Amino acid sequence: MHMAALGACGLRHVYGRLHIKPEELKEAFGRLSETGFIGVNLTIPHKTAILPLLNHIDPHAKIMGAVNTVHFKEGELSGFNTDGRGLARAIADDFGVQLGTLRVMVIGAGGGAGRAVALQCALEGCPELILVNRTRHKAEALAREIEALPAQSSAASRVTVLESDDAGLQRCLEKTDIILQCSSLGMNEGDPSPISSALLHRQLLVYDTIYSRETQLVLDAKAKGAKTSNGLSMLLHQGALAFEIWFNQPAPVAVMRAALLDYRKTSSH
Ligand code: NAP
Repeated sequence: MHMAALGACGLRHVYGRLHIKPEELKEAFGRLSETGFIGVNLTIPHKTAILPLLNHIDPHAKIMGAVNTVHFKEGELSGFNTDGRGLARAIADDFGVQLGTLRVMVIGAGGGAGRAVALQCALEGCPELILVNRTRHKAEALAREIEALPAQSSAASRVTVLESDDAGLQRCLEKTDIILQCSSLGMNEGDPSPISSALLHRQLLVYDTIYSRETQLVLDAKAKGAKTSNGLSMLLHQGALAFEIWFNQPAPVAVMRAALLDYRKTSSH
């Protein structure tokens, strides 16, 4: 999607992949900075390991405690996090609503994706935030972190913590507008849904961050008549936001979306 974006904007750059081991990170970033790279996207485990190597960290990335986009400028390294904002744009795009107006249930609120998503919901001002995780103490730690956000950063979301098998799930789903599925349950063929289909209803919006397959949750939600979407749009928008940071111009989102969909089609054969 980045190569398509570069081509559409007439930018003569190349987006490629580099395999860098954790112990090579410092040396690699020194070299990338010296050799004219404009920026980098990072994935696990580098999203947190990069923090001490940066000259500047965007306030949003500071709250997230992780950086997925680095911009090299005048010999300095600036770090940003576009994952959460990418999700907010994806929800607006896919469902035509602002994330901050919704009562949200985050499933998998103990992993990396769930953390970024839940923090973004708080920053957007979601009135209700229900955190569900198989291992309860991880969701509780996240809830404490959200409650400790500076008042100006969050519009005081009401936070509730539940285990995935908690009987309270049904009660909470009655006051949920959108389910944001962030656990890895669904990645593998035959994985069950984290929520019993009997609890789903047609008024729910269901967003599964997994985009490599149609998960059981999405299939069940569709069968109930609920609106659904998957994490491809989050991937798209985090990439578009990174492009905007590197080139200080709007990203050609339609071109990037078409390239992503094309790639998916060809890679699934
Ligand atoms: P992670 O840090 O390893 O977290 C995994 C999460 O899934 C934890 O909350 C874990 O719960 C939960 N989980 C794992 N197996 C489970 C099971 N059998 N039953 C219930 N819960 C289970 O992984 P991550 O990086 O957050 O990624 C999670 C998912 O997000 C992946 O499927 C990935 O595809 C998706 N993702 C999508 C995007 C996007 O752009 N669309 C970006 C990032 C990630 P415990 O705490 O109990 O272990």
